[in-house]
Amino acid sequence: MSEQIVKADIVIVGGGMVGATLACALGDSHLSVILLEAGSGEYTLPDKGYELRVSAITRASQRIFETLGVWPGIESRRISPYRDMHVWDASGSGVIHFDSADIGEATLGHIIENNVITAALYERLSSFENIEVIKNCHTESISISAENASLALKNGKTIKTSLIIGADGSRSSIRQQFDISVRGWDYDHTAVVTYVKTEKDHQETAWQRFLPSGPLAFLPLPDNYSSIVWSTRPDHAKELTSMTDDTFCSALSTAFEHTLGDVIECGPRAGFPLRFFVANEYVRPRLALVGDAAHTIHPLAGQGVNLGLADVASLAEVLMAADANVIGDMNVLRRYERWRKADSMSLFIAMDSLKRLFGTEHLAVKWIRNFGMSLTNRIGPVKNHLVRSAMGMNSNPVEGRLPRLSQGLPLVDRQ
Ligand SMILES: Cc1cc2nc3c(=O)[nH]c(=O)nc-3n(C[C@H](O)[C@H](O)[C@H](O)COP(=O)(O)OP(=O)(O)OC[C@H]3O[C@@H](n4cnc5c(N)ncnc54)[C@H](O)[C@@H]3O)c2cc1C
Repeated sequence: MSEQIVKADIVIVGGGMVGATLACALGDSHLSVILLEAGSGEYTLPDKGYELRVSAITRASQRIFETLGVWPGIESRRISPYRDMHVWDASGSGVIHFDSADIGEATLGHIIENNVITAALYERLSSFENIEVIKNCHTESISISAENASLALKNGKTIKTSLIIGADGSRSSIRQQFDISVRGWDYDHTAVVTYVKTEKDHQETAWQRFLPSGPLAFLPLPDNYSSIVWSTRPDHAKELTSMTDDTFCSALSTAFEHTLGDVIECGPRAGFPLRFFVANEYVRPRLALVGDAAHTIHPLAGQGVNLGLADVASLAEVLMAADANVIGDMNVLRRYERWRKADSMSLFIAMDSLKRLFGTEHLAVKWIRNFGMSLTNRIGPVKNHLVRSAMGMNSNPVEGRLPRLSQGLPLVDRQ
């Protein structure tokens, strides 16, 4: 096969929610971009029921999608708002309740099936002339030199580029190939996901109960269905995924204290092993990591993809402010790294504290946990700060502001 060489300013490896959003953010810009996706890039919804993978999308992420013209495609498919969040501890009296009205917002966010988001992103991507999407794409080798970076694809094509962006998920081959180390831990937990119908209305509330074995979340879907994320020990997860529907519905109703009455119907179940890590470097010369490739977190915070979208908003802003011939330089890329590392450090500390706080049934820790939850619930300013953080609306200390896209502003001011 004869070698075909093409050039692009930027190559994004991985067209999941984060990589495809980054490509949209660079749409209609002065930069030429190639997005490589290993999968088929077909994002359809099941004929019956709901997709098993859903995301709680914060207000800040919604603004990113709105500014990029992706939100109408999401809204026209299927979304479900949540206006309240109710979190409580199974082994005590600790409760926290967040209400969007307390901070003057209509919603805290939306629960959206992942395929709804990616379908809307790919639809939007087809309208940009400077973005090429290559699906079913497999990379044979990657090299980086002072002059450029080069990707040899299995189809015989070679791409020469100024910057490679690894958006290829938590098992990122880009991160591994360039020996970028990570800090974190395996939780020795599996998240069992499914969707269910309950006897009582979900009240557009995201519910989370902390059980001794791990958190159990009910997230509102349309027509009074809920998406379930039940994090538990791997052996228990195996049991939950292999039991009959009736036994599962009954086990789930009990674990959830019948808060929404009985669980009367459930969809298929799947398990996802959980880990937490943050990459020690987000950038190298001609290389940047975004999304789960840079940091993977426990779904209990509902923040994984939202953090990835904040990476996108920051990186796109940094790149758009630079000349095309310097986008792979460390002095450009370091601004992105500093900006996002501040958030990932606070995340590291928060995840570590949560693990310590909820990973034990020691009496004293249980008391502190319940007291802390109840106290937080009573102190308005603390609670409001927490809820604004959960909505992605607090700026980090490095830039002192949210990225423009997260504020609902275009990357560059239009004249
Ligand atoms: C059970 C569960 C529940 C969750 N709930 C939430 C939630 O409520 N809210 C939230 O914010 N987050 C949530 N998350 C986290 C969220 O799903 C991830 O953070 C998000 O999917 C990361 O997106 P990504 O695009 O970075 O990576 P991925 O979704 O992993 O996408 C990576 C893409 O890269 C492609 N790829 C991989 N390797 C290559 C390669 N070599 N070449 C080309 N393409 C490649 C893959 O095919 C894929 O399309 C949850 C996670 C789990 C496990």
